[in-house]
Amino acid sequence: MAIATLNPATGVVERTYPPMSDAEVERALADARRAATALRRTTFAERAGWMRAAADLLEADAPALAATMTREMGKTLASAEAEVRKAAYGCRFYAAHAEAMLAPEPADAAAVGAATAYSVYQPLGVVLAVMPWNFPVWQVLRFAAPALMAGNAGLLKHASNVPQTALYLGELFTRAGFPRGAFATLLIGAAQVEGVLRDDRVAAATLTGSEAAGRSVARIAGDALKKTVLELGGSDPFLVLPSADVARAAATAVRARCQNNGQSCIAAKRFIVHTDVYDEFVAAFAAGMAALRVGDPAEPGTDVGPIATESGRAELEELVADAVARGATVLTGGARPDGPGWFYPPTVLADVDPSMRLHLEEAFGPVATVYRVPDLDAALDLANATAFGLGAVVWTTDEAERARCVAELESGAVTVNGMTTSYPELPFGGVKTSGYGRELAAAGIREFCNLKAVWIG
Ligand code: NDP
Repeated sequence: MAIATLNPATGVVERTYPPMSDAEVERALADARRAATALRRTTFAERAGWMRAAADLLEADAPALAATMTREMGKTLASAEAEVRKAAYGCRFYAAHAEAMLAPEPADAAAVGAATAYSVYQPLGVVLAVMPWNFPVWQVLRFAAPALMAGNAGLLKHASNVPQTALYLGELFTRAGFPRGAFATLLIGAAQVEGVLRDDRVAAATLTGSEAAGRSVARIAGDALKKTVLELGGSDPFLVLPSADVARAAATAVRARCQNNGQSCIAAKRFIVHTDVYDEFVAAFAAGMAALRVGDPAEPGTDVGPIATESGRAELEELVADAVARGATVLTGGARPDGPGWFYPPTVLADVDPSMRLHLEEAFGPVATVYRVPDLDAALDLANATAFGLGAVVWTTDEAERARCVAELESGAVTVNGMTTSYPELPFGGVKTSGYGRELAAAGIREFCNLKAVWIG
């Protein structure tokens, strides 16, 4: 893929960038290595000061940065600005809590025959971050804030369709006061990732994106014996049981499916509804989806902008066409509008079965499937009948049902009577082919640390 800003609302290539040369990559690696050495000697207080300065910059730059994000990947201006503010909050969160999260852990010295025994969290060094375009600021900051606060350096290989956002982020932390090279953008294509990942100066990698990209990075990192954290796709279930507040569940379902133009790994994608409330829920859900305003993401009244890439929309169309050809019923949407830009309407499909690709694959756009189930057992079986395991939602006020769902849903998160959202305060990640490792919370900052045991006689 060319490294370019290609406005998905118009289909116009606005700006292209040549990939960095080998010499430029080499310089960034050398700077990152030097910065990692310098950073590990700084105090939490120094890093927290710079991190808070980064949050200040993000907040001051939010309107302009949001406009860039909207131009590059099509999310609405309001959601882009909210994303930048959330990223600033994430910076402040780790500035405030990193030191306590990484405090030395005392051990029973007598039991191990020592005068003193404890463990300490130390930075690993330079971490490569391969990041996607869908939350082009938040996904990067939720890696960068904990990594830098732990004393690591970061190298960002961002998605090729968000180069201006990537260049902004590559300068942010130096502007905030971190040593030069502590966090930098490598403007490179996917094919150049292997060389960087194998470089001895890179200690570990994190990737958010597709399963294919995750497998490739994990394979190379495995061969080079480097730690990875992977946050991949999802096809999250959204269960609605008879005790649910059906109207609220349906309204939340619309947001959960269409947030970020439907392009979120933790968007609810499969709506699994108890037969007692199926008709009521599906009618309200389909009406809510149909009522969303699709259009120019820069316009204040728009709910759903375009799909970020032309190939992304084509993929979505193929999934829907395959399902319809095999007997699925379109309740709303299902056909692209005429005109420029890669728009696709909020779509709801019923009568989906395992013969259809849409039943098993992730729909990365505003396309929902609804399923009728007779009881909770069937709902849980269907919810877990997927290769993915990122988030899961259940709507119920029954305590026993809630307990079973928390215990039995195969996912990295369970949300009851709400929608899946990432918070700095809670760990984030998946099981099965949704990836491994955790971001955010204390677990996230510890992923790229060496937990060193200290025994003093
Ligand atoms: P990709 O996984 O292709 O892109 C994500 C990042 O990985 C980009 O920086 C990309 O670079 C890079 N990348 C791609 N292939 C490789 C590789 N072999 N080695 C190293 N890096 C690589 O996602 P797409 O944008 O193509 O979206 C495809 C699908 O991925 C979506 O339909 C969705 O299912 C899933 N996805 C999931 C996301 C999530 O949040 N979990 C986010 C985005 C996508 P480049 O742009 O240069 O190719």
